[in-house]
Amino acid sequence: MVQRKGEGARGKAPERARELKEKAEKIIESLKKLYPDARLELEFDNAFELLIEAILAAQESDKKVNELRKKLFKKYRNPEDFLRVPLEELERDISSVNFYRRKAKLIKKCCEALVEKFGGKIPRTVEEMVKLPGVGRKTANMVLGGAFGLPAIIVDRHVLRVSQRIGFTQEKDPDKVEFELMEIVPKENWTTFSFLLLNHGKNMCTAKNPRCEECPICDLCDSCKVKL
Ligand code: SF4
Repeated sequence: MVQRKGEGARGKAPERARELKEKAEKIIESLKKLYPDARLELEFDNAFELLIEAILAAQESDKKVNELRKKLFKKYRNPEDFLRVPLEELERDISSVNFYRRKAKLIKKCCEALVEKFGGKIPRTVEEMVKLPGVGRKTANMVLGGAFGLPAIIVDRHVLRVSQRIGFTQEKDPDKVEFELMEIVPKENWTTFSFLLLNHGKNMCTAKNPRCEECPICDLCDSCKVKL
């Protein structure tokens, strides 16, 4: 994108960019009151567990993955453990989640790359994380923000939907949305912001029936049904 003189980052006029930043800060403050304990729904003890869970959670509920995790990580504590067992055994061990055959292959490939490229340790940058099979920017950011507490904009379907409704973006591509949000939200709040929107999307700003009448950010939201 060509940035014209006088335009803010990513082509937004300075006035509009400032408005969006102010709006983001107000939304963070407001949603923090509603979700004082906002975090990922996946339960994990370390970054490796979260990475494997993120792969398992594709097109599956976090609840289902949480049910599986205790038993799974008793047997598989590190990438080498996943590489040691035959594929069929791993498939059996994760067969309670959707698409388990595909996911078993992905987990194996991911663990192989983890060992070969990073000595079995989870890298701490998005650029390195996405070199792992099965890991896109969303998963990378989820691990970096969720497990390491690093600044991370996590654009899952909830964050995408709520961001569009509020009016932060008109993009549909999650990676583009991530970069837009990076310009709007202060870096120190990236992870908190992601968790808040994630919680809001799951609990109130749901896909089918957003409960705008109860929503504390209705005044700040471009799609609030109550004020339309
Ligand atoms: S006002 Fe409605 S559409 Fe906007 S964030 Fe709240 S629930 Fe979602």
